[in-house]
Amino acid sequence: MPPSLLPARATAHANIALAKYWGKSDIARNLPAVPSISLTLEELVTETEVCFEPRRKHDQLLLDGRRATAVETRRAAKLLDRVRAAAGIEHRATVTSTNHFPTAAGLASSASGFAALAAAATCATGRELDLTRLSALARRSSASAARSVFGGFVELPAGAPGEHGLAARPIAPPGHWDLRLVLAITAAGPKSVGSTEAMERSRTTSPFYDAWVASAPRWCDAVKRAIHDRDLELLGTAMEQSTLSFHCCAITSQPSTLYWSPATIAALQTVTDLRASGVPVWSTMDAGPHVKALCEAVDAPRVGNALKQTPGVLRVLFTTPGSGIEVSS
Ligand code: ADP
Repeated sequence: MPPSLLPARATAHANIALAKYWGKSDIARNLPAVPSISLTLEELVTETEVCFEPRRKHDQLLLDGRRATAVETRRAAKLLDRVRAAAGIEHRATVTSTNHFPTAAGLASSASGFAALAAAATCATGRELDLTRLSALARRSSASAARSVFGGFVELPAGAPGEHGLAARPIAPPGHWDLRLVLAITAAGPKSVGSTEAMERSRTTSPFYDAWVASAPRWCDAVKRAIHDRDLELLGTAMEQSTLSFHCCAITSQPSTLYWSPATIAALQTVTDLRASGVPVWSTMDAGPHVKALCEAVDAPRVGNALKQTPGVLRVLFTTPGSGIEVSS
């Protein structure tokens, strides 16, 4: 095997959007319709190894210790095709990846999964890692993956791609603000409808989609200002509005995508009640039934205890601002 085709490993962390991404302006190029801002989370880790092999006939993806489905393998192969084209090689690859948290369940495994895959595959071809190009590459497979290339607070603009394609950029390092995102897990197993399908349903059928696209940049601006000023009330208020607005599009699409369970509503109510009792905490959700509560580090134990006692909440995970991708070969 030529030295440039040695196996390579990458680690990436999932991220949760504080100003949400929902909907595409260009499906073929996977361009987001709205700008978004996220927090990369140290505790949600994906580890991926890629090995290009001269004798392999098809790409193979082993995900969480099982052979991936045809759809999952095809999605990974599309990213590998772009890496092969850039490197001028034809070799198929064996990809072995583990998400150390639930896959396809609304905890952003696609973000860390495609960021780790982009990094490991690029490194396995012996090419230099340029983080902006890597972010643009990951974004082609999953827009939120563009943000997981970087640590801390990260922005993904909407609009026309730049010279190397549309990429995310870091706006503040993990140490900028010692926040906690407390995750209330309200269901086991994968979610009912994948994010890609659900956002496309929203775009094509929800009567509120255009209002969402028009409003999202305002919340994004507020979130950015709040991060700069470490203003949790401004951040939390904009984050909740952004979250409820994109879920409004999902719920009012045809057929409706309702990710919420009774436990989801109970957990949202717990956060509202905590806030009414004087704890500065705000909630967000992604495409899935789980509730994520954002607060200062000092309040996290109280928020976690309240969520643990909420009917239907299965378990609680405490997450902290995390780092960007790391590679090794
Ligand atoms: P989630 O909320 O976990 O991001 P999605 O439905 O948006 O759920 O995306 C899940 C899909 O992302 C998986 O079905 C698979 O295609 C892909 N994926 C997740 N993790 C990985 C990984 N580690 N490597 C490659 N692809 C992955």
